[in-house]
Amino acid sequence: MKSVQKLLLFTLILTFSSLARGQKTTPERTKLVVGIVVDQMRYDYLTRFEEKYGDNGFKRLINDGFSCNNNHFNYVPTYTAPGHASIYTGTTPKNHGIISNDWYNKFEKKSVYCVSDDSVNSVGTQSTAGQMSPHRLKTTTVTDQNRLFTQMRGKTIGISLKDRAAILPAGHTANGAYWFQGREEGNFITSSYYMDKLPKWVNDFNASAKAKSYLRPWTTLLDIKTYTESGADLNTFEGGFKGKENATFPYDLGSLNPQNGGYDILKSTPYGNSLLTDFALAAIDGEQLGTDADTDFLTVSFSSTDYVGHNFGVNSKEIEDTYIRLDRDLGRLLDALDKKVGKGAYTVFLTADHGAVNVPSYLESIKIPAGYFDSAGFEKDVRAYVANIYGRDDLIEDISNYQVFFSYKVLQDNTIDAEELQKKIAHYALQYEHVNKVYTRSQLEQEGYHNSTGELVQNGFDQKRSGDVFLILDPGVISYSKTGSTHGTSYSYDTHVPLLFYGNGIKKGKTYERTVIPDIATTIAALLGIEFPNGFSGDVLTDVME
Ligand code: ZN
Ligand code: ZN
Ligand code: ZN
Repeated sequence: MKSVQKLLLFTLILTFSSLARGQKTTPERTKLVVGIVVDQMRYDYLTRFEEKYGDNGFKRLINDGFSCNNNHFNYVPTYTAPGHASIYTGTTPKNHGIISNDWYNKFEKKSVYCVSDDSVNSVGTQSTAGQMSPHRLKTTTVTDQNRLFTQMRGKTIGISLKDRAAILPAGHTANGAYWFQGREEGNFITSSYYMDKLPKWVNDFNASAKAKSYLRPWTTLLDIKTYTESGADLNTFEGGFKGKENATFPYDLGSLNPQNGGYDILKSTPYGNSLLTDFALAAIDGEQLGTDADTDFLTVSFSSTDYVGHNFGVNSKEIEDTYIRLDRDLGRLLDALDKKVGKGAYTVFLTADHGAVNVPSYLESIKIPAGYFDSAGFEKDVRAYVANIYGRDDLIEDISNYQVFFSYKVLQDNTIDAEELQKKIAHYALQYEHVNKVYTRSQLEQEGYHNSTGELVQNGFDQKRSGDVFLILDPGVISYSKTGSTHGTSYSYDTHVPLLFYGNGIKKGKTYERTVIPDIATTIAALLGIEFPNGFSGDVLTDVME
């Protein structure tokens, strides 16, 4: 027998023997990558609510996959848009350019929203909510690289309730990105950047009135008495809904929705995540994801966790119930992937776009240093200080995102040294209550910071887009209402987030070695054998891969 024939026979025998043992042969190349981002998910939500999770959601990813337990954001600011961009580009704002959700654009002299784009039209809504695109994202995503590698045959579909969380992960070359338009509509929509009209499966989903079916009472999934991992339901650290005096269960969404943005109320409840799960299942069917030889990508970003955290805080019963319900929705998604794509034929990663702080007023009540920064007061005072020294009030163009933006034209016309102004403002700011550290543009351009807050600031600093002086507040201090949680800092409560890998090509195991967010796209690209995103700075996590 020729060696080719021998090899064929050997392969046949192997195939038959594994079929005889009832095993499916798992494909070498994963058919579908599902990237899951849970908005505002702290690492400790995995461990705090562990007893309440079923076997099929988070625990399945942990027990049958690989868990990176010391995974961090390695830049500031820890916001949604930079988070999603960094996860999928394998780098930080310094390279991909998404420096915040909104930022002052010094070239256009106005504040811009990360994905807003006047040059495209809404699709699926009469509102302007569809005028969005990834045009401000400077580098490629791992999803773009997969499109390039597969000659555009491998699909990318991005979905979320939030536009930026659907658009940025899906990259520049996506087949579609869809997000939720609440108000009176309750529909998933898109932009003419991707297509001129919604595909049939999206129209069918919208027509099915799924969103409407969730305008029902929000009660706890399990007996609230068993929710011992969170604070009292009635407390002084929560926001709540308009039209209901106390932030306590149950919440009747049917009667509360008209005063709380119509269908937008779903975003602030776990039902927003359930609705997105329904939509994910419709996308897998509608786009036939994971059914041919080319790897497809589905990016799913669950946003309700963030809205609930902002409204009720990280220690609330509402947050606990939201995660218990998300766990069940994850189980539903994984079961559907098993059925539709095949067990072992797809790969999943799950992470978050940032964490969140405990409500500072709660921390203060138990003697942990925390507090509130008066952003408006700071802006007024620093402007007055500069005007007093230089005799003019137009040297500062804008103060936003804890950054001071100078008017370079005014500085130049009046031969004022930018570095001198940076230093003066830095020294002034350091005397201000709750300002912990200050960095200047000159420092960030000249120094190389390592293993420090400076490194995180530097990784978030885009030379062209960022400002001239940067403030870092004290731990536990935010500029926010006295109820609810927020995020954005360089501290562990904002940087430490879950990172789970599961499925095709993934080993079982866990690590406490430090990993960082840019490692995700780099590792997935290595797993697929495709080129890395063009601005990548992450490492390949070799321990994770089979
Ligand atoms: Zn977020
Ligand atoms: Zn409550
Ligand atoms: Zn948020």
